[in-house]
Amino acid sequence: MKVAVIGGGLGGAAAALALHRRGVEVGLYEKAPELSEIGAGLNLSPNALKAFRYLGIERGAISTGFQAKEQVIRSFRSGRTIARPRRSGDIEEKYGATFLTMHRADLLRLLVQELPDRLVHLNSACIGAENRENVAVARFEDGVEIEADIVVGADGIHSAVRDSVFGQREPRFTGCICWRGLVPGEALPNPSFGRQMMAWWGPHGHIVHYPVRRDGGLVNFVAHFDSDGWMEESWTYECDRSELMETYAGWNRELLDLIKSSERYYKWALYDREPLDDWSRGRVTLLGDSAHPMLPYLGQGACMAIEDACILTEALLRDPDDPTFALVIYEKLRKPRATRAQLGSRFRARQNHLASPLARLRRDVKMAWNSRFGADSSAGQAAAFYDYDVADVRIFEEIDS
Ligand SMILES: Cc1cc2nc3c(=O)[nH]c(=O)nc-3n(C[C@H](O)[C@H](O)[C@H](O)COP(=O)(O)OP(=O)(O)OC[C@H]3O[C@@H](n4cnc5c(N)ncnc54)[C@H](O)[C@@H]3O)c2cc1C
Repeated sequence: MKVAVIGGGLGGAAAALALHRRGVEVGLYEKAPELSEIGAGLNLSPNALKAFRYLGIERGAISTGFQAKEQVIRSFRSGRTIARPRRSGDIEEKYGATFLTMHRADLLRLLVQELPDRLVHLNSACIGAENRENVAVARFEDGVEIEADIVVGADGIHSAVRDSVFGQREPRFTGCICWRGLVPGEALPNPSFGRQMMAWWGPHGHIVHYPVRRDGGLVNFVAHFDSDGWMEESWTYECDRSELMETYAGWNRELLDLIKSSERYYKWALYDREPLDDWSRGRVTLLGDSAHPMLPYLGQGACMAIEDACILTEALLRDPDDPTFALVIYEKLRKPRATRAQLGSRFRARQNHLASPLARLRRDVKMAWNSRFGADSSAGQAAAFYDYDVADVRIFEEIDS
């Protein structure tokens, strides 16, 4: 079987690696001149680490990324602790893997370093894909066409593969914007503060920060705010520190001191999409953000893309003679879970940014209770996603029965 994966982001690279490791002929087609990840931090939960195990990169990830003992969720001004969800010890045993925060570029490197160069095709901008008799075809900007048994669109929220197969629809502006920056260890005003994983919830916004390297030395922050004053979706738009200081004036002093220590500030608007009715047409399918772009509030976008990659591989290996059927199974297994994450992330956006002090108090009490007793496994709680193990054969047995 031959598979063409369009898009060399985290989802596409994971798919190429999973397929290559299991002996499937694969080509990875990326429009950029190199494989690179812009943006800094990723929060990865045990379901992603179990997928890393399947991909053979779990150990590499653990020796690169940062393992926080807990995440401290705090109130925006006073710093009062709302909850301290644990991220190590018995919680790792419970979910069968650890939590990690990582630099995106480090993760991408781990995914692609095992891929032979001949499989990676750079400067390959796909303009569409289609089904022809017993074959899938991907077309590229330079006029090249390639044939494969399966074409996988892993080309992100503005997927050309999706547009060509399902028709063009604009993504939805979510009403949220965010700023991000990185603070090197030597610039941290208070190193012991900076080396913790924290989330600060306030009216109309929240801020998260955590180290992205094992030694705790490089701290990533992302500051979210409800606003319709900016709608450009760009990972590279630089802005001035004063924007953040004005937006978060009155927020906790120690938090603002950390943010002030970044050399650069980037700003972008957050978009998602309504869940798609279908992910596949014949021999063409979608994976990651091209299928289910979501707000980042459950920290599950990349986790879902990487899970997709593993389950797609397993589905193709189970039905190598009938790839179209394999894609039906893939979609059946993945769509409910990814849709839950998409919608759960929207719910969580509203919860994190509640403006009314009373509603915030109610939320905080519930959150503190959940964090202590783990009672709520609704989709708005990220913990609802942690159990999943891509290597668990029961995932397929449910479909078989
Ligand atoms: C602020 C923020 C914070 C986030 N935090 C987290 C987090 O903590 N944890 C988490 O799990 N997720 C997080 N996410 C979500 C995560 O970043 C995405 O879900 C994930 O990167 C999607 O990966 P992907 O490979 O599907 O798509 P992308 O990363 O968008 O990759 C698509 C790739 O396809 C290429 N491409 C595009 N068009 C074409 C074309 N026509 N032809 C060829 N190649 C093409 C692109 O150049 C790119 O390399 C966050 C997102 C944001 C915005």
